[in-house]
Amino acid sequence: MNAVTISGVGKTFDTKEGTTVALEGIDLTIAEGEFVSLIGPSGCGKSTLMRLVADLEQPTTGSIEVFGKTPDRARRDQDYGIAFQQAGLLPWRTVAENVGLPLEIHKTGKAERTARVAELLELVGLSDFGGRYPDQLSGGMQQRVAIARALAERPRLLLMDEPFGALDEMTRERMQGELARIAGETGAAVVFVTHSIPEAVFLSDRVVVMSPRPGRITDALTMSFAGKTGREEGLREQASFFEMVTAVREALHQGSPTTAVRGVETR
Ligand code: ADP
Repeated sequence: MNAVTISGVGKTFDTKEGTTVALEGIDLTIAEGEFVSLIGPSGCGKSTLMRLVADLEQPTTGSIEVFGKTPDRARRDQDYGIAFQQAGLLPWRTVAENVGLPLEIHKTGKAERTARVAELLELVGLSDFGGRYPDQLSGGMQQRVAIARALAERPRLLLMDEPFGALDEMTRERMQGELARIAGETGAAVVFVTHSIPEAVFLSDRVVVMSPRPGRITDALTMSFAGKTGREEGLREQASFFEMVTAVREALHQGSPTTAVRGVETR
């Protein structure tokens, strides 16, 4: 079974200013355990596609299945966890209380919750910080708390919309390494929105390239080193890494007029 099946999906927004065709003719399947990045210039509909999968918006045409169910059913079954650009932690709750929040909402017993939170904090390397408050942590640590919270209910799918967009470059690379390890350890499928070509290449089994207005998929590149368990830092120095970065950059340029790719970070 696929983690996500997107068939003929279109999304149109009607506003006072007029009609925006945000997405058109999107077909994409994501296998269980697969890491797929969506990349493309600003406004090409990446976030909209993510929000459709997460049941936060409804498609205008076509259909979406998450583990063979409607997105609505999958949301109610807690089949996926979400982490977006802002960590979105509750400032009056400790780190442990933030991570345990989804479990609390779904009435998991206290003993089981405490054990699961300890396990999650260990997974993201924050075992010593459970009693701290979010504003006592760095941006990178806050994002790790958000990832731990997204993993609380052992989702088979993680939806991440530029989760590292607000971090400095060094922290960002460290977080990418952490995420690669966590995705490998949990076996969850990941849909990851990013503006950064190297970030997409480092993390993904497949990089899906989109063009702007109406947002369409113009290419999907399988990373030549896909399938290897856990991405090592050394990968960033390898010739095959640079080849893939170049391939994705060229696919982006082919899919868009040159003016449209300015919003994309090509470092
Ligand atoms: P991306 O994530 O690739 O930057 P978005 O998915 O945010 O792109 O947006 C795609 C297009 O849809 C943009 O033109 C945006 O203005 C439009 N759009 C997104 N959400 C809405 C909305 N709620 N109402 C009207 N237009 C929207």
